[in-house]
Amino acid sequence: MSPAVRRPAPEPEDGPCSPQQQQQDQQQQDQQQQDQQQQQHRPQPAADKVPLPKLRLEVRDLAHPGAPLFLDSVNATRCLTTAIANLLRLLYTTPPAGPGSATVPPTRSVTLILRDMSGVAYTTGSDLDNDHKEIHFSLSYLEGIPAARAAREIAGVVTHELVHCYQYDGFGTCPGGLIEGVADWVRLRCGLAPPHWVRDAAGSWDAGYQKTAYFLDYLEGRFGNGLVRRVNEKLRVKKYDEAAFWTELTGASVDVLWKAYGESLKTTPGANGGS
Ligand SMILES: [Zn+2]
Repeated sequence: MSPAVRRPAPEPEDGPCSPQQQQQDQQQQDQQQQDQQQQQHRPQPAADKVPLPKLRLEVRDLAHPGAPLFLDSVNATRCLTTAIANLLRLLYTTPPAGPGSATVPPTRSVTLILRDMSGVAYTTGSDLDNDHKEIHFSLSYLEGIPAARAAREIAGVVTHELVHCYQYDGFGTCPGGLIEGVADWVRLRCGLAPPHWVRDAAGSWDAGYQKTAYFLDYLEGRFGNGLVRRVNEKLRVKKYDEAAFWTELTGASVDVLWKAYGESLKTTPGANGGS
């Protein structure tokens, strides 16, 4: 039966149904129509020409204490659609990209899977079709998040992982630390940095995660909004060649930039993380 059919509904072939049955059918039809309307008005990401992928949530163990912590802390639909809108804005549309430079990967579906595993979370493409992504999020990790921080921590992890569903990697040549840094930079710019994050220029610029994220944020401040968008765009079209990559983007080598970043931290007391 078409979900759009309104009463009077056609009788089923096996005879008239009871008033209760008719009422149930009506309720079902109303629900179906409501679902259809909601489907038509699904929230769209800010990059308004990019269709929202099919989003799914799979909870593999509802009895695990991490499951209610997730379900009670966030509205999963809002959490995922907001994160996608934010990452599209930061990596593809702000400031407005030049012609041909806002090519968003054709991610067709994202399934968020809550399951008991070690670690925090990871993202993977489907074996059959890499445009279908899976984000695996640890129920044990969820269980350990203090309730007061749960909503922001979940949004932060989900945002980080969703970036992986939409970022470029220089045809597999980009250092893992830069990939992770871009993901945490988006998280940072969404105001979702956890309290333990600290700006720090010790060690290598591509150590990844928040260390690289804060470095990228410094570069955004120094070279203008859109530097990270250009990093991502460059990784779309070219393999990563460290010397050329950073000089073409900024006019300086990454080592010089990293040193300058370290110097800037010395002159900006209290320039640490958290938000
Ligand atoms: Zn990651």
